[in-house]
Amino acid sequence: MPLERKVKYENECDKEFADWVTSQTGGENLRHCIQCGICSAACPLSLYMDYTPRRLINLARAGFKKEVLSSLTIWLCASCYACRVECPKEIQITDIMYLLKRKAIEEGVYPRRFPIPVLAREFGRMVFMFGRVNETLLVTDLFLRTNWFKFLSMTGLGLNLIRTGRMSYLPEHIKNRGQLRKIMNAIDTEAKKGETK
Ligand code: SF4
Ligand code: SF4
Repeated sequence: MPLERKVKYENECDKEFADWVTSQTGGENLRHCIQCGICSAACPLSLYMDYTPRRLINLARAGFKKEVLSSLTIWLCASCYACRVECPKEIQITDIMYLLKRKAIEEGVYPRRFPIPVLAREFGRMVFMFGRVNETLLVTDLFLRTNWFKFLSMTGLGLNLIRTGRMSYLPEHIKNRGQLRKIMNAIDTEAKKGETK
């Protein structure tokens, strides 16, 4: 099937978005990209991405916020750092991917029913609540939010794992959850401060 090509105009851009990326730790060199494409060639997953790393960097610095934040690319990135190692301009591509993922979750613009952002958000929520991740709750929540049919087809396996003690359905929690929450809230506050600089 031919790829859909859509002309983009400058007035569709959000210039402040590129400024925001460059104001973040790791995003400082965004505008130094020379579009050589080495990152895309080095990336083991670029074949499956809707925008290769080179294109994503170009869209981000041009201010195509919607395209960037709703792309599959940022969620398919496996954080292998191959692009970062090869980039001749030392652009922190992997860190930029993380920045964009965080922003996409904050703004709720990630691809609907795509498992990776749902998993990332629920993982973070569970750590905040309990200090530990409960696999049963995490997987149940993931399937219910992304793929009901998969949930039904996996129910038998899940029940067997619970019955044989391989998975627990009761969430465990660490001691002093309040301390962990304070740390997580402090990180969140610092990150937000960085965004308003
Ligand atoms: S390798 Fe670096 S300079 Fe080259 S396109 Fe990728 S981000 Fe830009
Ligand atoms: S860090 Fe992400 S974008 Fe970079 S090469 Fe690895 S998978 Fe590709």
